[in-house]
Amino acid sequence: MANPGVLIVISGPSGSGKSTVTSKLLKDTRFAFSVSATTRAPRAGEEHGKHYFFITKEEFEALIDGGQMLEHAQYVGNYYGTPREPVERLLAEGKHVILEIETKGALQVKAAYPDAIMIMILPPDIETLEGRLRGRKSNTEEDIKNRLETAKSEIKIAREYDYLVINDTVENAVCEIKKIVDSETHRTAYNAEFIDNYIK
Ligand code: ADP
Ligand code: 5GP
Repeated sequence: MANPGVLIVISGPSGSGKSTVTSKLLKDTRFAFSVSATTRAPRAGEEHGKHYFFITKEEFEALIDGGQMLEHAQYVGNYYGTPREPVERLLAEGKHVILEIETKGALQVKAAYPDAIMIMILPPDIETLEGRLRGRKSNTEEDIKNRLETAKSEIKIAREYDYLVINDTVENAVCEIKKIVDSETHRTAYNAEFIDNYIK
């Protein structure tokens, strides 16, 4: 069978566990991470080029104008976006490329790449979400309130996604996502060449 690289969009409210789950998925070398650009300030421990490309508003707008962003959106007062070139290169290399992005950008990706696998991650309930967001201790109280408010509108968009994964334990969430990706790669559409060559 073909071994296609698939595009995976992972969304979920801030604090739902996207970064934690993604970092575990990346231990499997079939997966690759699309490093986003953002105008927000780095948090403690975040590295330029690894977690994000931390750039200015002017630099970000120049990338949009130059058509170099696959998608972009504003989130709690900052720009976030996916540089196009690395995603296209990694997919061509056969990697499963993970975009860990918010919902407005995610819907732009789905429009541009209808085969993208859209996964929404949620903790088991909203109280757990708030607890995890607070437990991270890397946001101000005002920022946490904004993020919880934004969370409600993001959860409403969950139905636009293909899959819902509950992040009860990280291990379960990672296992569920791997099963989803594995099933998707068995789609006949990804294996057309294999089928054509089978009887030659
Ligand atoms: P996001 O990237 O979606 O904003 P994070 O990955 O930063 O979320 O997770 C938010 C907080 O919740 C972090 O402190 C993280 O360690 C914790 N966390 C993530 N997944 C779980 C889980 N399954 N059980 C308990 N804590 C978790
Ligand atoms: P944070 O500030 O917590 O790192 O991210 C805030 C939100 O922006 C999260 O929902 C995260 O998934 C989203 N995000 C990160 N990178 C991108 C991106 O490239 N594009 C879009 N649209 N959202 C992003």
